[in-house]
Amino acid sequence: MSSVRLRVGKERAIAAGRRWAYRTELLPADAPPGAVVDLLDSQGAFVARGFFNPRSELAFRVVTEDPAEPVDADLVRRRIAAAWAYRKAVADDPRYCRAFFSEADGLPGLVADRLGEVVALQISALGLLPWHGLIVDTLAELLRPAAIDERGEGGARRREGLPEGSGVRWGVLPEPLVVEEGGLRLRVDVAAGQKTGHYLDQRSNRLRLRQLARGDGVLDAFCNTGGFGLQALAAGCARATFLDISPDGVAAALANAAANGFAASAEGTVANAFDQLRAYERDGRRFDVVILDPPAFARGRRTLDAAFRGYKEINLRAMRLLRPGGLLATSSCSQPVSDDMFLRMLADAAADARCRMRVIDRRGAGPDHPGLLGAEQTLYLKCVFLERL
Ligand code: SAH
Repeated sequence: MSSVRLRVGKERAIAAGRRWAYRTELLPADAPPGAVVDLLDSQGAFVARGFFNPRSELAFRVVTEDPAEPVDADLVRRRIAAAWAYRKAVADDPRYCRAFFSEADGLPGLVADRLGEVVALQISALGLLPWHGLIVDTLAELLRPAAIDERGEGGARRREGLPEGSGVRWGVLPEPLVVEEGGLRLRVDVAAGQKTGHYLDQRSNRLRLRQLARGDGVLDAFCNTGGFGLQALAAGCARATFLDISPDGVAAALANAAANGFAASAEGTVANAFDQLRAYERDGRRFDVVILDPPAFARGRRTLDAAFRGYKEINLRAMRLLRPGGLLATSSCSQPVSDDMFLRMLADAAADARCRMRVIDRRGAGPDHPGLLGAEQTLYLKCVFLERL
């Protein structure tokens, strides 16, 4: 077994729960990229066993802290089975859930979303490649989907030095693929859609919106396939505007509205939300429900200040667009933005907007997206519901 060593004083974060070591925390090592190695402290004592990749910022990723546990096919199978047993016990609906979530389920870099009959798979750790076939077979055996589709693009793969390549790895993709959410039917395009095709992490928050939404006009900003705005329409709101910078997103949202009987109450706008929110304010347009679900503005700590300003800008505008009694459902999926930081941003935005806002509910992702203490980045999603007084 090859080993890599931590520099002096760098063992604490992993002992406290972090599931990786940064490249800068390791002494130079000659193990090959993708190898399973033992991580040793600066004295040479065992810390953890896991995947090594000197090309990646996350140069070591923990698989086990048990020195007697080999990283082998049996471990991979056990981890996937345990993750699935957990979902069957805790997921709101195991037919639509994240079936495997990377570090939180004990295999860094493996994500599997169950979207009804399809499993959308993402692999973003080089160390997992030798088990690719086994992962597919195990998911097929346990989850019994019609198809397993791999999404093999994106920054995380490039940073790991993983080759790009997407496609169906098992079975046959059903056409069309439809996800059910609180009685609504949403069409999902796993092959061309964003991420794994459907944002499962917001599922319980979309259903929460269904309980809280009231009034006439809804603005679903950063709508993608329109899941939030559709729940507001299902709750009885009269009209929804679906706003996204991507024409495909707006088209998908309008198609989903039509398929659920809301064609007459839905309109689409393709625009940059930063500009469009300002234009609505200038034109005196007001809403009873505003949803903000932007992409991550902060990827790392260095971009945090700019991200804070971006979040504040859109939230400030959204608050001003609300009628008194109106509801704001606002989210951030930026890993480095903590719950506290997000609330502080909202307080700043409310002060500058001269709006009195009441916090109704503070939420994260559902229990199918568990997070690890000591690695709070895994608790990345914040979703806050506020009422304008
Ligand atoms: N609310 C959606 C998920 C939103 S994902 C759901 O529940 O499914 C974020 C969306 O923001 C993407 O669809 C992306 O196209 C869009 N987006 C990114 N930058 C944008 C911008 N500046 N203005 C408007 N939309 C933007």
